[in-house]
Amino acid sequence: MIKLAKGLIPLGLAALALWMLLLRGAFGAAAAPGSAAAAATLRASAQPERVRVALDRAAPTASPESSPLPPEEAAETEPLLRVYDAAPGKTMEMGLEDYVLHALAAEMPVSYGPEALKAQAVAIRSYALWKSRAFGGGGCSKAADADLCTDSKHCAAFAGDEKMRENFGAAYEERLEKLRLAVKETKGLCCAYLGEPIQALFHSSSGGQTEDSAAVFAQALPYLSSVKSPGEELERDFRSSLTLKDEEAAKKLNAAFPGAKLESAKLKEQIEILDRSGSGRVLTLRLGEKRATGKALRAALGLKSTNFTLEFGGGEIRFNVLGFGHGVGLSQTGAEAMAKTGADYRQILLHYYQGVEILPLSNLE
Ligand SMILES: [Zn+2]
Repeated sequence: MIKLAKGLIPLGLAALALWMLLLRGAFGAAAAPGSAAAAATLRASAQPERVRVALDRAAPTASPESSPLPPEEAAETEPLLRVYDAAPGKTMEMGLEDYVLHALAAEMPVSYGPEALKAQAVAIRSYALWKSRAFGGGGCSKAADADLCTDSKHCAAFAGDEKMRENFGAAYEERLEKLRLAVKETKGLCCAYLGEPIQALFHSSSGGQTEDSAAVFAQALPYLSSVKSPGEELERDFRSSLTLKDEEAAKKLNAAFPGAKLESAKLKEQIEILDRSGSGRVLTLRLGEKRATGKALRAALGLKSTNFTLEFGGGEIRFNVLGFGHGVGLSQTGAEAMAKTGADYRQILLHYYQGVEILPLSNLE
């Protein structure tokens, strides 16, 4: 059994106060969807022995008035996380539930339904625990002592209080309350596989079918298997496109893939999709005299996903793209679509994370 820190309340409150001082203006706009994704620093396949560390740490002193979570909502026992923020270059210590609230505020539109928000809250909590050193995770590689960082492209996005006020505007109290409820009603719950917290990756839109983790991150995790994600077509980020003049496309791609030797007049013959994953995402392409991965092409052109088709003609090349993000794990727009059809957060989680259990922290290995 994991030892949990006592006296969470003063700690969580204190961490938040300190947080607000240090993170002022430090965060960007609402998270890039699928941010946990880039995070996909999957644990090394040869995992180190899981080491249990007592989570008792000294609570910093600060005013208790500043926590976004009312004291009665804070658990009596709760893991503490060390969260690194690159802007001030400091690592904050805060309670798990506070962390979930701030990450939720940054990762999912607050306009989403309560059950979608709850599913996202549990996913964030699970991912945080998976990374947490105290639960056997590797922590965040950006700082020696951190469990997570606030970089949406590395661990998960995080909105401090000031950022939430800026994003929520006049509806701040109402929107914060909606997020608080999503955290409170799932307090301490975590997706677990074989008794351990899962790497609960998520993304904005899968384009209709999520992706196997092995196709994106070269590690097959049974709970990150491809599933259908119906209803996304009615939500944001489902379809997008990028059109480039042939000259511009050749120039950009030759710069990104040296040796490709693309010629603007011959793109149709020179660019060919070679293979796709089971869910339809481009794995490799021929770019003139080079081969490239779909991921590399996506990065080079800023496409929303690797699930794209090509159209040539009229002196242009057009990329028609489905979905937004890496496509692994929970689809946020899919979760919202499920919530609209009456699914609860448990059904949403059990759909996107196949074979997991939803357990309270006390039941984790
Ligand atoms: Zn990180």
